[in-house]
Amino acid sequence: MTRVHNFSAGPAALPEVVLAQAQAEMLDWEGAGMSVMEMSHRGREFGQIISEAEADLRTLLAVPGNYRILFLQGGATLQFSAIPLNLMGRGGAPDYVVTGEWSSKALKEAGRFGSVNVAASTPAGAHDHVPPWGEWRLDPAAAYVHYCSNETVHGVEFHWVPETGGVPLVADMSSHLLSGPLDVSRFGLIYAGAQKNIGPAGLVIVIVRDDLLGGASPQCPGLLDYKLNADAGSMPNTPATYSIYIAGLVFKWLLAGGGLTAIDRANDEKARLLYDFIDSSTLYTNPVAIPDRSRMNVPFMLRRPGLDDGFLAGAEARGLVQLRGHRSLGGMRASLYNAMPIEGVRALVEYMREFQTQHG
Ligand code: PMP
Repeated sequence: MTRVHNFSAGPAALPEVVLAQAQAEMLDWEGAGMSVMEMSHRGREFGQIISEAEADLRTLLAVPGNYRILFLQGGATLQFSAIPLNLMGRGGAPDYVVTGEWSSKALKEAGRFGSVNVAASTPAGAHDHVPPWGEWRLDPAAAYVHYCSNETVHGVEFHWVPETGGVPLVADMSSHLLSGPLDVSRFGLIYAGAQKNIGPAGLVIVIVRDDLLGGASPQCPGLLDYKLNADAGSMPNTPATYSIYIAGLVFKWLLAGGGLTAIDRANDEKARLLYDFIDSSTLYTNPVAIPDRSRMNVPFMLRRPGLDDGFLAGAEARGLVQLRGHRSLGGMRASLYNAMPIEGVRALVEYMREFQTQHG
């Protein structure tokens, strides 16, 4: 068996020890005589799995007691609808901040349910920075403020948290939740699709302050109603049991490795290695303003045209895979989620250097 260095933006690499444990427990989970996939979600065994997953996530993020953790389905995209359906009724038109592909999609979806303001944005085609705070036009009567704290496609990350006063702050953290410590109390609601730093695609984690429960619009489908999900312990219907199990193993892996402070340091080191090399190189560029660069998703372009396919083929031959950039940007993108070891980044930089010597 040969494992590659997988730079996919998602679904993405998972810690090898987690996959090995899942493999070892595939036929018989802790003496239950069955796979987690085969267990009743109402049974004692799965009850233990989901409550440990929740408790471990609470520990990792130091989630305050007045926040509920929900394990839902439909990916982060279904939250683009669930958020307005649950929260729009709380005040005036919500404020959306647009900094890339994902916040644009969230804005467009929210517009299906009512009027929406754009409080700050970068222009399409120039999503290469975070709009300076002085340019934000927030409405103090807005129902909520929505932004995407790490734009997976454009590689733009907020390294600060907007201060929205009494207006609940809602963040799509799909591609950087658990990449470092976070002050959950600054947010009304945090959500993240699992397939980057957490587990299998389809699962989405929602962390919501309890005063935001119970305001869903009459049109809101029951399954999207946060209160209904919270009251039912994320199980108004059958939850994504196996995905929750894998997420739980990932949480335990993070805790065993020293929690989010330790992974934060590792992520800093990995990102610095790659950005430093790009900035010192003659062949590669990264378009994002330096203070707003993502530690998780690093898009980079080759200055000379016509080299992309050759670069990718050479990378693949060395076991450095899924580096092709998003179709809307072209070029390359290296995603350096928690499960990417520093050795993977070293191997990538070494290859990039070699390729530059040959083609620069
Ligand atoms: N938001 C962000 C920031 C993402 O990166 C993604 C997926 N790449 C999504 C939302 C959509 O997630 P899903 O495909 O799970 O709906």
